[in-house]
Formats: sequence, structure tokens, C-alpha cells
Amino acid sequence: MSVKTETVIRTPNERATTEPSRRPDLLGLGPDELARVALSLGEPAYRGRQLAEWFYRRGSFDLGAMTNLPAAFREELDRGYRIGSLAENGRRETPDRKTRKVAFSLDSGGVVETVYMSTPTRFTFCLSSQHGCGFACRFCATGRMGRGRNLTAGEMVEQALRLRRELPDGATDYNVVLMGMGEPLENYDAVLRALGLLTDPSLGALPPKRVTISTVGLVPQIYRLADEAPRYRLAVSLHAATDELRSKLMPVNRTFPLEQLLGAVRHHVDRTGRRVTFEYILIEELNDTIGDAAKLVKLVAQLPCKINLIPYNPIGPGKFKRPSAERIQRFAEHLRPRVPAVTVRYSQGVDIGAACGQLAGEAQGGARR
Ligand code: SAH
Repeated sequence: MSVKTETVIRTPNERATTEPSRRPDLLGLGPDELARVALSLGEPAYRGRQLAEWFYRRGSFDLGAMTNLPAAFREELDRGYRIGSLAENGRRETPDRKTRKVAFSLDSGGVVETVYMSTPTRFTFCLSSQHGCGFACRFCATGRMGRGRNLTAGEMVEQALRLRRELPDGATDYNVVLMGMGEPLENYDAVLRALGLLTDPSLGALPPKRVTISTVGLVPQIYRLADEAPRYRLAVSLHAATDELRSKLMPVNRTFPLEQLLGAVRHHVDRTGRRVTFEYILIEELNDTIGDAAKLVKLVAQLPCKINLIPYNPIGPGKFKRPSAERIQRFAEHLRPRVPAVTVRYSQGVDIGAACGQLAGEAQGGARR
């Protein structure tokens, strides 16, 4: 038996060089962590803040443009690290370009989708927090993919910063909603880290009230969020006003039934002094009768809330149907005098598969199972 030995001789520079995809991502690190990176490369700590300014304030990932940093430092960074990891691998846009669905390849494989939505005065980016989703809501395309992995803070920040480049000239303000693929509160730490970077006042921040986190209703995390990060808005996917129906539509309701969920929401409202949004999909004959509306009114009574009605967006063959405009109207009219606020979300982008519940990484052959 012969043993093959191999001696590899490398120059110091080569030793530091690894495949781009294996280099740690600087995106997702805050100014202090970037300062530590700078110190480890023999540079003063303030270089960390300079890097953070480039990434988060200016949205630039291009070391070549960062001319206030020494060339040798930039070379070291380029050898040992990378800035960002997402590769755009397709997009669909409505003809007026108001809604754009961008597919990003992850370097671990798979695709996540991010949606850019605009009105003449408002820009909203819908970010994904996980690749896939383990909660299996019956009406949701992402739920059909099954559980995937948590996205990193860097991957989430990058979605926002990349879409920010598409804002028209002069526009700087945008909203962030964590309503793309995945359950943000299951990826709690990375989500809060990403939002912390996007809303850092020292980095040209997005005001925290422009951020909405939407959840299937993870009760312990709603309490945590209320206590630890009361500055963000909360949206809860309710979709049914009884445990019986909600458990059928959303298996998570068996773990956190309505009474517990509403207790957590009450705590959030009390703690933050801000109203909560309840999302309620309207599915014909299933949860869209006046009787259902009456139950919903009773359930949310006393809570400062907005009810956001989302007419069901089709996600392929199945028994669910979007109600007629009249039925939607009737449901909304019943709620209007009885709850603090009601909106109907006619999702833009249904035709390009960019509407609520339709995200499933289809650009790469669709869901994984
Ligand atoms: N997991 C989080 C974030 C996803 S948000 C949550 O559930 O809240 C996406 C929103 O779109 C949720 O309210 C979700 O329930 C809703 N949705 C999912 N599938 C839908 C569909 N087919 N039609 C309309 N809305 C849908």
C-alpha cells in the first residue's frame, strides 16, 4: 500500500486566498465588528466605520470605489473576505415596472425572491427571511417548499440594499416588510441584526417605523419582540377567527391557539403603544361570509388594530378560490364601522407571481418538492 503525500508550497498571499464563496461575508457586520476586522489586518479601528458607511449608507459593495481606504487594505479585504453573496438570477416585472420580483441565488444553492413594489409616493421592499418555510400554511406556495434554512443577516440586508439601487433618482425613503419567503420570527436573531443595520441612525438609517415584521403567530417571539425591539411594526397572519378553521389552514395554530396569540398581541400593543395589523386572506366560502366577519370583529374587539384583507392569490391547482369583488366588498363593509381600520390589499404583481403567498423560488424550477 502506498501512501501519497503531497506538499503544497504557498506564498503568504496565496495562503490567504480562498474561493470567493468560502470567504466570510462582510455584509451583515456592524461598524464595531468591521473595526475588529480592520484591526486584525493592522489597520486602525475607524476603518470599520468607513466600511460600514460604504456598505450601508452608500450601498456600495465595490472595493475599487472605496478610495478613502488604503489600496493595500482593500487588497487584503478582497483576498480574505467578500461583500455580499447574492447573485441575481432572474426577474419578472409588471409592464409598468411598478412591481418587480427579483430572484437571487444563494451560494448554498436555491433561490429566494424579493419584491419591489411602488406607488407614485411610496416604495416598499418585501424581503425573504428564510429559504423555504416549515409552517405549511395550506394557502401558501412557500409553505409547499418545506423547511429550508435561515437566511443570514447579510443575505437579508443585501436584498434591501440591492433593491435600493433601483429607486428612481431623488427617492431615498422606502419601507421594508418581512413578508417574503419564510417566517421571520423563526429566524429572530438574524432578522433583528439585519433590521438593526438598516435602521442604524448613525448610518443614514431607515426610520424603524418603516419596518413591518409579519408572523404566522409565534407567541414567545412576539413577547420577545415587544420587549426587545418595540420600534418595529408587527403584522400577524390571522386568516381565521376560530381555532377550528385556523388550525386547518395554519397548522401552527395547534401549538399557539388564538387565545395565546391574542394575549401576545395585546402585550405587544401595550408595550409598543402601536396598533397591530392583522392579515386576513379571503377565501371564497371558507372564511368570507358575514358570519365570519362577525366572529372576526368579536375576536379583535378592544385591540387597537388594522385588518388587512388579502383576497386569496391563486398558487396553482387547489380548492381555494378568490371571492368575487362583491363578496370582498361586503366583508370589508361589515368590518369598517366595527374595527379601527380596514384595508383591502389588492396585491400588485399577481400576474408575475409576486403577490402574497406566491413566492417559491420558481426562477430555478420552483419548489424543491
Ligand atoms: N411567515 C410570515 C411572513 C410571510 S408574509 C407570515 O405568515 O406572516 C406573507 C403574507 O401573505 C402572509 O400574511 C401570508 O399568510 C399571506 N399569504 C400567503 N399565501 C397567500 C395567498 N395564496 N394569497 C394571499 N395571501 C397569502
